[in-house]
Amino acid sequence: MKIVVPIKRVVDYNVKIRVKPDGSGIDLANVKMSMNPFDEIAVEEAVRLKEKSGAKEVVVVSIGPAKAQETLRTALAIGADRAILIETSETAAVEPLAVAKLLKAVVEAEKPDLVILGKQAIDDDCNQTGQMLASLLDWPQGTFASKVVTESGSVTVTREVDGGLETIKLKLPAVVTTDLRLNEPRYPSLPNIMKAKKKPLDVKKPEDIGVDISPRLKVLKTTEPPTRKAGVKVGSVAELVQKLKNEAGVF
Ligand code: AMP
Repeated sequence: MKIVVPIKRVVDYNVKIRVKPDGSGIDLANVKMSMNPFDEIAVEEAVRLKEKSGAKEVVVVSIGPAKAQETLRTALAIGADRAILIETSETAAVEPLAVAKLLKAVVEAEKPDLVILGKQAIDDDCNQTGQMLASLLDWPQGTFASKVVTESGSVTVTREVDGGLETIKLKLPAVVTTDLRLNEPRYPSLPNIMKAKKKPLDVKKPEDIGVDISPRLKVLKTTEPPTRKAGVKVGSVAELVQKLKNEAGVF
C-alpha cells in the first residue's frame, strides 16, 4: 500500500496571532511556523500503517513557500519516505480548491491507495481540502477519523460525529481526514532527523502541473476578536444572582 499525506506549514499553534494594522491579514513577520497539528497526526498514522500493516511507501506533499521544505523534513524525520514540495511565492495564499487540484495531479502521478489529510488547517480553518480532493478524484472519503484500519482492498474508518462515533468501510483508493483523537504523534529522534536530511525531496511549481492558483476569494478585512472585559468579584451568592439577573440577563 502506498500512502500520500498532504501537509501544510502554518503558524505554530502556540503563537498568539497578530492582525496587521491595516486589517489586510495576519502578521507573519518573525512568527514561528510548524506543521499543521492535524497533518502531524496524518503523518503519524501513515507511518504506523507502514510499521504495523506493511504499507510500502509514505509520500508527503506540501504546497507552500520554499521554507515548507523544513516542514517536509520534519515529516521525513517522523518516518515518511519521500517528499514533494509544490513551491509557491512567500506571499501566495493558496485556497483549498487550488490545493485540491494540485493534490489531484500528485495523486494521479503517484497512484496511492490512500490519501490521509488533516481535517482542517489551523490557519484558515477551512475544513474543505480533503472533501474537495475526494470529489475531484471521485474517491470515497472518511472524514474526522479517530480510528483507521486497513484490510486488503478496503479501509474501515471510525468517524467522530455529533453525539458519537460512526464506523464506515471504504473501498480503496480512498481519502481519509484525521481528527484529534486518532493518535499522538511521536517526537522525531535525533538519528531520524539526521536520516531525514538525506531522503529525497522533489520541488515542482504549480505551472509545471498546469493548475491556476490565483485566488477566487477576496479578503475584505481581518479583525482581532473583541478584548475580554475584566471580571468582577462578587461578595455573596445573592449579589451573584442579582448581577446574573439584572446585568447579564441570564435569567
Ligand atoms: P483546509 O481545508 O485548508 O482546512 O485543510 C485541510 C487539510 O488539507 C490540511 O490539514 C492538509 O492536510 C491539507 N492542506 C491544506 N492546505 C495545504 C497545503 N498548502 N499543502 C499541503 N496540504 C494542504
